[in-house]
Amino acid sequence: MKALQYAGPRDIRYETMPDPVIEDPRDIVVKVERCGICGSDLHIFHGHTMRDDAFFCIGHEAIGEVVEVGSAVTRRRVGEKVLIPAAVGCGACHFCLAGKVMSCLNNVEYCYGLSRTLQGCQAEAVRVPAGDFNALPMPGGMTPDQAITLTDALPTAWFGCRNADIAPGNTVAVVGLGPIGLMAVESALLMGASTVYAIDLVPERRQMAAELGAVVLDPSEAIETVREATHGRMVESVVEAVGADTTITLAIRLAAKRGSVSVIGVNMDRRMEFPMGRFFVNGLTFRSGMCSVPEWLPELVPLVQNGRLKPERYISRVMPLAEGPKAYELFDAREHGVLKVVLTP
Ligand SMILES: [Zn+2]
Ligand SMILES: [Zn+2]
Repeated sequence: MKALQYAGPRDIRYETMPDPVIEDPRDIVVKVERCGICGSDLHIFHGHTMRDDAFFCIGHEAIGEVVEVGSAVTRRRVGEKVLIPAAVGCGACHFCLAGKVMSCLNNVEYCYGLSRTLQGCQAEAVRVPAGDFNALPMPGGMTPDQAITLTDALPTAWFGCRNADIAPGNTVAVVGLGPIGLMAVESALLMGASTVYAIDLVPERRQMAAELGAVVLDPSEAIETVREATHGRMVESVVEAVGADTTITLAIRLAAKRGSVSVIGVNMDRRMEFPMGRFFVNGLTFRSGMCSVPEWLPELVPLVQNGRLKPERYISRVMPLAEGPKAYELFDAREHGVLKVVLTP
């Protein structure tokens, strides 16, 4: 089959690789119909990878059709349309049964194309371990573009907002307006935020947040403007959707006393100094972590089906898988209003 392979920093190739096969009786194989490029794939694109194989297939967002099932699979059927959540669990432990896949007690492989051996989803087909659990029947009444956002991006944005303790009437700030940050702006407003300050360097992205109803700010003016607008109180809930030390620091400085800071951006450096003094003096809450996608789908599926959330609006390009290398360049450059890019094998 054909797939996108990482061959080194800024070197994504459209190559032939072996077809996925059933390796365990609980596996299924899914023919991919749409796959997404996520902001965290850009970290790999820039050369940050925990894998030591020279080439590997990347991507962790896909929908498709089941083409093969292992002998122990009981719920998935060949021909069934499925949504594949980015987060992978064993499907049998205490946490998986509660939907908290990222806390799986047996998890050695938590995500396609990121963890050590699971193949990525930017391919014509992918093996899904514990297919009864890790592939979900396609929800009715939604388009493929809506469904692909439910595999990772929208649940991550929603989880980020929940972690920020957003309650009706709250003031909120969202730092970073990539697709997930914009989805967080939309989610925060749906959760009842009175004001959402949306902060990013890129004017086109700020424009999109303004259209959602946010007050938009350049990072350089964010602290002063928010301080003035809130009469020194700052904001009760902050969602950080970049992961850089500077943006996490900005998020913490935006938080009001007793406020909550939620980081969903992936911090590659992992050595940032934690400002314990500020947290202690101001009584702040800090939360971070990876989203257990299945945990949030019961809330999000009906919100998308009924048009209360419109995550498909952040998909700016749908391109053939063969043009994947170009798609990475476009997404990385953040030019010409490029937001989320979706690929079709
Ligand atoms: Zn992702
Ligand atoms: Zn588990």
